[in-house]
Amino acid sequence: MTDDVRLYRAAKILTLDPRRPAATHVAVAGDRILAVGDDELEREHGPASGLFDGLVVVPGFVEGHAHATEGMVWRLPYVGFHDRAQPDGEVVAGCRSTAALLDRLRQLERGLEDGDQPLFAWGYDSIYFSDKPMRRDLDRVSARRPIVLYHSNLHLITVNSAALAQAGITRDNRVEGVYVDADDEPNGELAEVAAMFPVFRAVGDPLLANPCDADDLRRFGRACHRAGITTVADLYNYLDDEGLRVMAETTAEAGYPVRIAAALATTPYSVAQLRDRLGQVSDRGHARLHLGAVKIISDGSIQGFSARVRQPYVNGIENGVWYEAPPRIRDLIHALHEAGVRLHVHVNGDEAAELVLQAFAEAVAASGPGPGHVLQHAQMMDREQLARARDLGLMVNFFANHTWYWGDQHRDATVGAEIAARMNPARTALDLGLDVAIHCDAPVTPLGPLFTMWCAVNRLTASGQVLGAGERITAAEALRAVTLAPAISLGLDARVGSISPGKLADFTILEQDPLATEPLRIRDIAIRGTLLGGVWQPAA
Ligand SMILES: [Zn+2]
Repeated sequence: MTDDVRLYRAAKILTLDPRRPAATHVAVAGDRILAVGDDELEREHGPASGLFDGLVVVPGFVEGHAHATEGMVWRLPYVGFHDRAQPDGEVVAGCRSTAALLDRLRQLERGLEDGDQPLFAWGYDSIYFSDKPMRRDLDRVSARRPIVLYHSNLHLITVNSAALAQAGITRDNRVEGVYVDADDEPNGELAEVAAMFPVFRAVGDPLLANPCDADDLRRFGRACHRAGITTVADLYNYLDDEGLRVMAETTAEAGYPVRIAAALATTPYSVAQLRDRLGQVSDRGHARLHLGAVKIISDGSIQGFSARVRQPYVNGIENGVWYEAPPRIRDLIHALHEAGVRLHVHVNGDEAAELVLQAFAEAVAASGPGPGHVLQHAQMMDREQLARARDLGLMVNFFANHTWYWGDQHRDATVGAEIAARMNPARTALDLGLDVAIHCDAPVTPLGPLFTMWCAVNRLTASGQVLGAGERITAAEALRAVTLAPAISLGLDARVGSISPGKLADFTILEQDPLATEPLRIRDIAIRGTLLGGVWQPAA
């Protein structure tokens, strides 16, 4: 054996490897796992390090659906409803009433110097307010300065009259996604790209249009590390030359704390350009940057009423907004499937899932099975749709955090009690034999695989009610859904996702065993740090 073998012992090692599910010792050589076992390994490798004595080692958490934008949103002030930790861990208090939100905005407005400089803020979510602040409320903060609030789902913005005027959006000049009030006047809420774009063109867009800079990516890395994540997906990245250069260089910096799997965004590219771009970017990957997949967004967000649904929303809104036109979604799926490209397809509403399932059925019929495509969010898929997904060889990655963040709203205001109870149907999908991952979609909700596990295991809403008890899964199933399953979804399971000889030594070190913890306490388990490629990164 080589000299650089390190042997670690722990109270328990949960490997996620069926050949040896539990162990006490793991030997690491360089950046790889050499052997997994018990104190027998001490005879071969000498005394074990006591660094993890009394602690529990699990495979490094894999967040299979997030956005590096999490590192960028903190350029802007946060005005969300819930308290939220910044990447450095400091918590910003939520704005829990319209009055509190408008007060925060006035305070921010006074802090801006130039009288015409737009005021941007992020994290807002109108669904939490019965008297939701609209254009006219924002006009009371400033009638002259454009104000743009990015919703937490990033599928909508709410703007004031000055922003609408500069964008040229009026009752007579409006596109799909421009919402109106009782007088048929634009009310300031704009859903999806076509409606938001005129505002961005007129007053700027500090978030969605820009690639992350190095500081954004460093903030993103710190936030992942705090959450115990060792591999994270950045699931919609334009990967233009500059954005890719910054990402490749920053993730290669010594001590960068997480591996990133970045999926190429479709919107700026034709099918032919996507194939070219994939070819150009694929050789820029390295040990901490994985490239090669494509992300397609089909519809909007359920809490923003912009997801495409098969029945009207409970509040009377007829339907949501396609993110890309259905014929284009079909073309993308057909062509990229045929080219053997792994696809991550955002489907929130059940009508969107239907379109995408049909497109995959046609693609599989034409050119055989795919490389492991993933339906992302898949929140409203029913049993029959899930069975078809399984038969097409697709995986699902559910947005488990929704139950806590918006479960009450889904029951009362968006899709109604019956559908809300079977949203993010992890139990049904597992019973059907699908491979199930769960995710947070940061910055939509915060990074935190233990919290995401807690959501899937307990299905509690923010008001403390269990929503859809029949869709709860076990802690063991949830642990797989934040480690091995998302590794499979990213095509990285040969390298990460379980503690198996030959894989990278990516571990998350916990104070308690999440499988033996009272289910309601899973989210409270302390994270001591991570090992990334064998390098110890203690929690800050
Ligand atoms: Zn997303």
